[in-house]
Amino acid sequence: MILKQLVSPFQKVLLARRLCVGCTHPLDRAQRVMALTDSRTLLQCKCKRRYVYDKELGNYRRATFEEERLFIERKKQ
Ligand SMILES: [Zn+2]
Repeated sequence: MILKQLVSPFQKVLLARRLCVGCTHPLDRAQRVMALTDSRTLLQCKCKRRYVYDKELGNYRRATFEEERLFIERKKQ
C-alpha cells in the first residue's frame, strides 16, 4: 500500500532553511545525482531522500513521483 505523503508545515520550514526533512542534513551538501533540465537538478541526501534544486528559484523541494521515476529509469541504462 502506498501512503500519500503529506507535506507538513514543519517540512516546509526545513526546506526553506535548505535542510533535509528526514535527517536535517544541509541540502547544499547533498549529492547532485542528475540534471533534470538546465535549471533543475536532482539531489540525493545521505538518507536517500531525493530533492530537486531549482536554480532559477534558488530553492529546494521534494522530488515528485515523476522525477523519481525518471531517475530510476536512467539509472538502469
Ligand atoms: Zn536526509
